[in-house]
Amino acid sequence: MAARSEGMLIVVSGPSGVGKSTICARLVERLDGVLSVSATTRPMGKGEVDGRNYYFLTREEFEAKLAEGEFLEHAEYLGNLYGTPATPVREAIERGKDVLLEIEVLGGTQVARRHPEAVTIYLLPPDSQALTGRIQGRGRDAQAVIDERLANARKEIELARESGVYRHFVVNDDLAETVSKIVEVIEQERQATSRN
Ligand code: ADP
Ligand code: 5GP
Repeated sequence: MAARSEGMLIVVSGPSGVGKSTICARLVERLDGVLSVSATTRPMGKGEVDGRNYYFLTREEFEAKLAEGEFLEHAEYLGNLYGTPATPVREAIERGKDVLLEIEVLGGTQVARRHPEAVTIYLLPPDSQALTGRIQGRGRDAQAVIDERLANARKEIELARESGVYRHFVVNDDLAETVSKIVEVIEQERQATSRN
């Protein structure tokens, strides 16, 4: 069969502060891909821009879009709703672009169920101290939110392992090495897909 011309759907998950945004930004460049912009009901953080980091919606607006079937997946995380708009993802993949979804485990599970061909990657911190340092260093969240995110991290990692959804667990120690490792994994999966 001829090589597929469609782009790959790539799910990147991991605990808050592990480096998902940083790594996805680099992957977009390396793959000439597209980063999906999610919708969320959480308040805009320091330095964030509506339409770039997220589409910041009220719960009513989010629920209306959900009822219209506009999300590829969605989940509630720490009391806020998050969802991936389906149309831009589909259009980019049809144009041959790889699409990166930076989403949590429940959403990753929905994507893997609907798109078994998706490449699923879970990022792990080198250790919990590094994770704490990264969340604090980012300077986006209040201390109470940081504590909540850290308490959640351990549970999330366990859930990710138990879910069986993630085919690749990658420790984000050295940033450049992590990015290269992920690019390698994606290219291997691309070759495997095009042979089927
Ligand atoms: P996430 O999107 O998973 O919440 P970020 O990408 O915002 O995480 O990264 C959190 C912080 O950690 C940022 O300040 C980022 O620059 C830093 N960071 C990311 N990857 C590494 C790494 N491999 N080594 C050291 N610091 C990192
Ligand atoms: P944050 O509030 O730190 O930006 O994101 C919190 C969590 O929600 C992170 O794990 C992030 O990956 C996840 N997330 C962001 N967008 C989406 C989305 O569209 N769907 C799902 N399921 N999770 C998302």
